[in-house]
Amino acid sequence: MKRSLEKGEMVLKKVSQRALMWFKSDLRVTDNPALRNASLYGEVIALYIISPQEWKSHDVAPIKVDFILRNLKKLRESLNELNIPLVVKQINHVKETPNLILNHCKEWNINAVFINKEYEVDESKRDLKVQKTLEENGFLFDITHDQCVVPPGRVLTKDGKPYSVFTPFKKAWIKILLAENSLIQVIPLPEPNIDQSLIIHQEKNEIPEKVEGFDISKKYDADYVRGLWAAGKEAAHKKLEQFSKFKILDYKKNRDAPALDGTSVISPFLAIGALGIRECLNEALIANKGLLDSGNEGAVTWISELCWREFYRHVLFHYPRVCMYQPFKLETKNIKWRDDPEGFEKWCKGETGYPIVDAGMRQLNKTGWMHNRSRMIAAMFLTKDLLIDWRKGEKYFMENLIDGDFASNNGGWQWSASTGTDSQPYFRVFNPLLQSQKNDPDGVFIKKWVPELKGLNKKQIHCPKDCLGASEFKKLNYPLPLVDHDMARKRAIDAFKNLKTDEEPKSAY
Ligand SMILES: Cc1cc2nc3c(=O)[nH]c(=O)nc-3n(C[C@H](O)[C@H](O)[C@H](O)COP(=O)(O)OP(=O)(O)OC[C@H]3O[C@@H](n4cnc5c(N)ncnc54)[C@H](O)[C@@H]3O)c2cc1C
Repeated sequence: MKRSLEKGEMVLKKVSQRALMWFKSDLRVTDNPALRNASLYGEVIALYIISPQEWKSHDVAPIKVDFILRNLKKLRESLNELNIPLVVKQINHVKETPNLILNHCKEWNINAVFINKEYEVDESKRDLKVQKTLEENGFLFDITHDQCVVPPGRVLTKDGKPYSVFTPFKKAWIKILLAENSLIQVIPLPEPNIDQSLIIHQEKNEIPEKVEGFDISKKYDADYVRGLWAAGKEAAHKKLEQFSKFKILDYKKNRDAPALDGTSVISPFLAIGALGIRECLNEALIANKGLLDSGNEGAVTWISELCWREFYRHVLFHYPRVCMYQPFKLETKNIKWRDDPEGFEKWCKGETGYPIVDAGMRQLNKTGWMHNRSRMIAAMFLTKDLLIDWRKGEKYFMENLIDGDFASNNGGWQWSASTGTDSQPYFRVFNPLLQSQKNDPDGVFIKKWVPELKGLNKKQIHCPKDCLGASEFKKLNYPLPLVDHDMARKRAIDAFKNLKTDEEPKSAY
C-alpha cells in the first residue's frame, strides 16, 4: 500500500473488502490508528500472536504476559461489540510469523493487513519480513505510527539531526505539537463490521489462561497481583481519569515520594498499548485548561514525563545500537564493570543493607512495579555503588516489570549508568542515604517493604547500621551494607575517569 489513510479521511467502507488487524503492543479499541484504518478499508478480522520464544528472547516478564492475556480477553469483548472477531494463535518461533499471517489472509479472504509500527530492531525486522511475504503474494500492507504523539524521525535539530539531549528535544516536540494540533487528537473509534457472521472465526478459539514458561504462580501470589493490576479498557481509563481528576495538579510536589500514591501508575497499560498516548496527553490537557507547556506545574511536569517516554523511543529509532546491548555513549563501552554475582543476587533480592534500595527492589519482586524514584535509586546503586554492568540490571527489570518497555527501560538504565543521554556535564552518583532522607523522610515506604525495620525511628530507618549499636542492629536480622558508599563512589569515578573521553568526569549528587 502506498500510503496510510489520513486521520479523519472519509472512506466508504467496502463490505466486499476484508482487512486483517494484527494486534501487537496496541491492545485497545480506542485511539488505535491501525484499527481505525482497517475498519475504514473493509470488514475487519483481528489477530494476536502469542510468541513465547520471542518473548523469552526479549526477557518479557511472566507478570506482563499474564497481564497481556487478561487484557486480550477484555479486548475481545470490546471488539465483539463492534462485530469484530479476535483470533489468538500461538507460534513456536518468531520466524513462523510471516507464513502464519499469509495463511490466515488466504483462509479468511483478506485483502489488506494493518499494523501499528514498533520501533525496536527485532520487531522492525520481523514486520519487514511479514510485509515482504504479504506483498509478494499480492496482499496490501499498511503500517501506521501510533506509539508517539510525534512520530520518530520528525523531531530534528535545525541541521536535520536527531536530538541526544532531552530538554531541547522537548522544546522542539512542543513546537511541533503547537503547530500541528491534529497530532494530539485522539483517533476516532473504528467503524463496526457490517457482516455480523464474521464472529464465527473466533469460535472455539480460546485465549489461554497461561503460557508455558511464563507461570506467575512460581513467584507471586497470583490472586494478589491480579487484584493489583486489573485489566481492560475500563480499568485503564479509570486509572487515567482518577489521576487527572485528583492527582495531576499536585504531581510535581508528590512525584518523587515513593510512599505517596502521587503518580498515575498507568505504565502497565501504556506498555501493552491498552491506553493510547494521545488519550493520556488529552487527559492532561483537559486538567491544564488546554495548555501544553504552561499553566499548572503538576500537569506540565506530567506532560514532560510523557515526553521522556517519547524521547527514548526517538532515541532508539535514531540510534538502533541501543537495541543491541550497546551504550548510547560509545566511549563507555570500555568501562570495566565488576564481576560480582553475589552482590548482584543481593541487589535482586533487596538485601543490599541500604533500606531505600531494598524497599524498591522488594516492591518490584512482590508487585511487578516500582516507583520511578526507586528505579533510579536502585539502578544507580547497581551501576555506581556496585559497579555492575547496567545490562544485568536492565535485564532483571525487564524480566520482572509488568510495565517492561524496551525504550523506557533501556533509556532509564543508561541514564542511571551514565552511559546514556544524561546531559549533566558531571558524573552523577546518587547518595542512597541522602536520597532516602529526602524522598522518604519518615521511612513510610521503607517500613512497608522492609518490615524488619518497622520499629526504627525516622532517623534510624535510613541507615540502621550506623544509627544502632551492634547488638541492636543484629536483632533486626537485616543485612549489613554491601559496600561503603564513599569508597564505592570513588571507585566508580575512577572507572569512568580512565575512559578515553573528551571530558574528565566530575562527581555530584
Ligand atoms: C532504571 C529505569 C527503568 C525503567 N523502566 C521502565 C520500563 O520498563 N517501562 C516503563 O514504562 N517505564 C520505565 N521507566 C520509567 C518510569 O520509571 C516509569 O515509566 C514510571 O515509574 C511509571 O509510573 P507511572 O505510570 O506512575 O508514571 P507517571 O509518573 O505517572 O508518568 C506517566 C507516564 O509517563 C511515562 N514516563 C514517566 N517517567 C518516565 C521516564 N523517566 N522515562 C520514560 N517514560 C516515563 C510512563 O509511560 C508513565 O506511565 C524506567 C525508569 C528507570 C529509571
